[in-house]
Amino acid sequence: MEEQDKDFAPEKDAMTLHARYAWIAAAGLAALLCAAAWFMAGPPAWRTAPIYMFHRLDAQPRDKWTLTPADFERRIAALRDAGYTSVTPAEIVRHLRFGARLPRKACVITFDDGNASVLREAAPILERYGFRAVVYLVTGALAESGAARGEIEGAPALTWPEVCAMRASGRFVLGGHSVHHLHLDRCADPEAEIRGCAEAIERHTGVRPDSFAYPYGAAAEQPAIRKLIREAGFTSAMTVADHPAKLRRLFTDPLRLPRVWAVPDQ
Ligand SMILES: [Zn+2]
Repeated sequence: MEEQDKDFAPEKDAMTLHARYAWIAAAGLAALLCAAAWFMAGPPAWRTAPIYMFHRLDAQPRDKWTLTPADFERRIAALRDAGYTSVTPAEIVRHLRFGARLPRKACVITFDDGNASVLREAAPILERYGFRAVVYLVTGALAESGAARGEIEGAPALTWPEVCAMRASGRFVLGGHSVHHLHLDRCADPEAEIRGCAEAIERHTGVRPDSFAYPYGAAAEQPAIRKLIREAGFTSAMTVADHPAKLRRLFTDPLRLPRVWAVPDQ
C-alpha cells in the first residue's frame, strides 16, 4: 500500500486525462469540419449532369417544342466549348448504382417523340461536334418505310429503317416513349403502352431499350407506373423538370431523372 501511495500522482494523471480529452475533441472537430467541407463541396460521386430535352428542329419553328437547326447548333457548340461530353442513360445508371466514373462534365442529349428532323437536321450537327443523343420513340407512329411515313405531334415521324440506321451509326441510343403518346396515368392500359413500346423496338431493331421517357413528363410520381416501367426492362426514365439531375447515389431514383427543357430562343 505504501509503495502504491508513493507512485500515485493525482495531478499528473488528471493533466494526462485532460490532454487526452482535448486531443479527442480536436480530432472530432477536425473530422466534423472535414465532413462539412466534403458535404458542401460535394464528393465526386455527388455530381450534377444536365439532361437536355429536345423534340424537333425546323427552320420555321411553329411551337415551343421546335428549335431552328441554327439554335440547336449554337447550344451544342456551347456545350462542346464548355468541355461537356455526352453520355448515355445507361452510363448515368451505372454511375448511380455502382459508382462508375463519368466524364468530369457529363451531359445527356435527348429527343422525344421520334421526329424525322432528328435524323435530317440534328444528326449532322451531333456528328460535327462529336455528341451522342437518345431518341425516345413513340412506336405507334413509326412506319415500315418512307412511303408510308407517319406523323407525330403534327410533324413527320421517323421510320423503322431510319431508326435502325441511326442506332447502327453509334450516334443514337434508342429509348421508349410509349406506343401512342398518351398520359400514362389516364390511359386505359399503361402496361400495354410501356411494354408494347419496348417490345416493338426490340422486334424491329433487335435491341431492347433500357431508357424510357414519360409522355408529357406525366405519371413519374406514381409508383405503380414506375413498377410497370421497371418490369418492362427499363433501368432509367426521364421526367420533365427544369433543373439538371443531381446524381446522388441512394437519393436519386433512376426512374425519375429530371430533364432541362431546351426552350427555343425568342
Ligand atoms: Zn413526347
